[in-house]
Amino acid sequence: MPEAMVASSASEATSGGTTQQVDVAVVGAGFAGLYLLHRLRKAGFTALVLEEAGDVGGTWYWNRYPGARCDIQTIDYSYTFDPELESAWKWSEKYATQPEILRYLGFVADRYDLRRDIRFGTRITQATWDQAAERWLLTTDTGASVSCRSYIMATGCLSAPKPPEIDGVKDFKGEVYFTGRWPHDEVKLAGKRVAVIGTGSSGIQSIPLIAEQAAHLTVFQRTPNFALPAHNGAAPADRAALLEGDRAGYREQARWSLAGVPWPQQMAVSWQLSDAERRERFEKAWAAGDLVYILTQLWADQAVDVDGNALLAELIREKIRAIVKDPEMAAALSPHDHPFGAKRPCLNRPNVTLVNLRQEPIRSITASGIKTDKRNFDVETIVFATGFDAMTGAIMAVHPITGRDGKSLSDVWAHGPQTYLGLTVAGFPNLFMITGPGSPSVLSNMAVSIEQHADWVVDRLIAMREAGFTTIEASETAQAGWGRHMADCSTLTLHRLANTWYTGANVPGKAWGVMPYTGGVGPYRSICNEVVNGGMLGFRLTGPNVAEQCNDGEIVRLQPDVRLVLNMLADMKLPPIESFGSQGARDFVAQFNASRPVGRPVGEVVDGTLQGTDGPLRYRLYRPATPGPHPIVVYFHGGGWVLGDEQSDDPFCRDMCRRTGMIFVSVDYRHAPEHRFPTAAEDGYAAMRWIAEHASELGGKPGPVMVAGWSAGGNIAAVTCQLARDRGGPQISGQLLVCPVTDCTFDRPSYSDNATGYFLTRSLMYWFWDLYCSPDDRTDPRVSPLRGNVENLPPAFVVTCEFDPLRDEGVAYAQALAAAGVPVEQLNARGQFHSSFTMVDVVITGVSGRVQMAEALRRFAGLPPERKHGDEGVRPGPTASPHEIAA
Ligand code: NAP
Repeated sequence: MPEAMVASSASEATSGGTTQQVDVAVVGAGFAGLYLLHRLRKAGFTALVLEEAGDVGGTWYWNRYPGARCDIQTIDYSYTFDPELESAWKWSEKYATQPEILRYLGFVADRYDLRRDIRFGTRITQATWDQAAERWLLTTDTGASVSCRSYIMATGCLSAPKPPEIDGVKDFKGEVYFTGRWPHDEVKLAGKRVAVIGTGSSGIQSIPLIAEQAAHLTVFQRTPNFALPAHNGAAPADRAALLEGDRAGYREQARWSLAGVPWPQQMAVSWQLSDAERRERFEKAWAAGDLVYILTQLWADQAVDVDGNALLAELIREKIRAIVKDPEMAAALSPHDHPFGAKRPCLNRPNVTLVNLRQEPIRSITASGIKTDKRNFDVETIVFATGFDAMTGAIMAVHPITGRDGKSLSDVWAHGPQTYLGLTVAGFPNLFMITGPGSPSVLSNMAVSIEQHADWVVDRLIAMREAGFTTIEASETAQAGWGRHMADCSTLTLHRLANTWYTGANVPGKAWGVMPYTGGVGPYRSICNEVVNGGMLGFRLTGPNVAEQCNDGEIVRLQPDVRLVLNMLADMKLPPIESFGSQGARDFVAQFNASRPVGRPVGEVVDGTLQGTDGPLRYRLYRPATPGPHPIVVYFHGGGWVLGDEQSDDPFCRDMCRRTGMIFVSVDYRHAPEHRFPTAAEDGYAAMRWIAEHASELGGKPGPVMVAGWSAGGNIAAVTCQLARDRGGPQISGQLLVCPVTDCTFDRPSYSDNATGYFLTRSLMYWFWDLYCSPDDRTDPRVSPLRGNVENLPPAFVVTCEFDPLRDEGVAYAQALAAAGVPVEQLNARGQFHSSFTMVDVVITGVSGRVQMAEALRRFAGLPPERKHGDEGVRPGPTASPHEIAA
């Protein structure tokens, strides 16, 4: 049916039997559905919202349990699309109550006259894509069906309550309530014996108010949760002033922030701060009572590093011990099994008698109460605050959705939600989700994310209409790529370390995986924009009178933190490093290094000199905190034989020293152009010999040493192994080559694939080679070890990065070693660039690679593996894995 006819019939609302035709049908009349309806109408689309509830409000319609409030400051948790709306509404509290938020949504519905296009009390029972008509057909429980070109799920993330999954609920003779489906009539709890099961946000918010009414309240807690004081009241003056001072600027900052609330990125890492400084920051956050502040503003590593997080978690537990005088109760309320922030913390706290279900699990619910392993509790009312089948539940549980070729969404998502951008699903044309799984959604200020999603979707519908397209569908390639990117992002946070509704772990049998996008609101927004600017990358668009368009591909192939670093560098618009000249380039590198996070503490750092071929060479020794003697790794820094010194890879050496439990000795070999080939190679060999001969004096284990190096340092490490073999020692037990230079030709594909845009450029490599080595010398194995004899060399671990000009020569060296019978493992690091592994604490996704490098070095030294909890993803996830070429 032509769109014009659809439009003319749209307003004829129907009931029973007939099918209403609209351009767009939206499910849900909460924050998302209301804004969508407003925008769709303004864009000239006919639109209808279908809502199961009796009025607008979505989650705020259903969750009317006592104490329900928002946990993002209300000045941030508001629509921003209309400045007049902003000035027409004033929030009364810092964290508004559910009734006030519901009033706000009603006010919005009235202001834009939205209710006339919302069908309340209507549940969709089936949604089927009709390929021939290119429309969705929706059937409803009222009998009135709807046909729409586009179908948008604005169903919310936490709207399908989780079934109680406890035996005997049906036998209970008293009253049962769910926080997520609280009755609209008054619930009388006065004088009653009440039980609350669950201590998540809903439980913690409702418990104090239920306790005020009930004669007796028993709280059944399985997992203690981090609870923080909210210090409710008026909106804090400083935040209100910021907003009032520059409303548009404040809102724009929120849109590009990580969590959808304008707070800056913290730069100081926990180990840089003293105990007193950390405590001061913590006390300030505790007093502020702001969830986003305490989740993001204490130190840079609080949400990404197990140790950085543990410091904060302990400070909160200290508060619990200070507030709860009974030590047994304090212990029971203190969370130990998940990082702070990996479950959503709560702004409030329970102060009632507790049943610790870890010590006495619930056996069943009986006619008169709750039976645990140890006791029977007689109660008249049970409140289930047991949470939701989050993110996917609301989309899948409401009705079967059948897409192209009869595909069912439940089947497609059987092993976890698959989406492109969290907005669309391959195989389901013209179906959109607002804040669906795969989008920042619940890890962000939902108001900001909802507006971004709704705008993106409506803008696409407008663009399609203008271009004559009638269908849009994500490609499988794009969707699979998004799944990889999602998984990469999830390794950046600690959410993977907790069993929560974020991961589906709260619902028995649900597939495990971090469902929200953890890469941040601002980065997500820029990705959505890139999709559009890239010609709707990853989408297939069709229309009756236009050629099909499909610019297929993956939107993000880089690791998320690499993407941020490269974008930041691109924004700086730096001239090419080689244009600075050698001294200028050295100064630039020194300045660049000074701005990076300081390396982590090790047992001891000692600067010294060793005897090279022509005189002393500086070194820096990193000693582990454990008792020695330790195996020794001789390390050669990167910098194209021209730049850097014994301190320039300081964070990497510290990190590897901590991970391996070994001494790292970083050597300052001499540099070009002052000292050309073969100085660096000869210095490297001489330094390694000196260190091996002085191992005991350095506190190391006598016997074989290991060598390691990055980039040109990897080249020197590889060459050192060949020289040691040919010159009678000393013995080397293993070589770690990270993105090494191994050959003098520039014709391998990685040199052209990654010629520019990834910091180390092809022209910079040309420059390094020219400064270090004349063309006549370049095939000498002391600079092109791939040209040398690679037999009988020490076992090797070779690391290459996908977006590195040096990738293919590293691969070639690993292959050559393997062919020569040298035990070699190779790590092809997907999505990483040349500097990924040495940018410790900036490129967090480099951790899994460094864990594998450390394990390799421990194997070379004959030591057992030693993994640090949290580093490598205890859950299945796409960490780079070593590809064993040969043994
Ligand atoms: P939740 O965080 O999933 O908490 C559910 C609670 O019930 C947990 O303590 C859980 O224990 C427990 N539980 C679940 N099944 C159980 C069983 N069979 N036996 C015993 N205990 C069981 O759910 P929620 O409290 O409703 O909160 C969900 C999310 O909604 C929040 O994280 C938040 O994002 C949002 N919310 C926000 C606000 C707000 O302030 N704006 C208020 C309420 C909710 P385990 O932890 O051991 O699984």
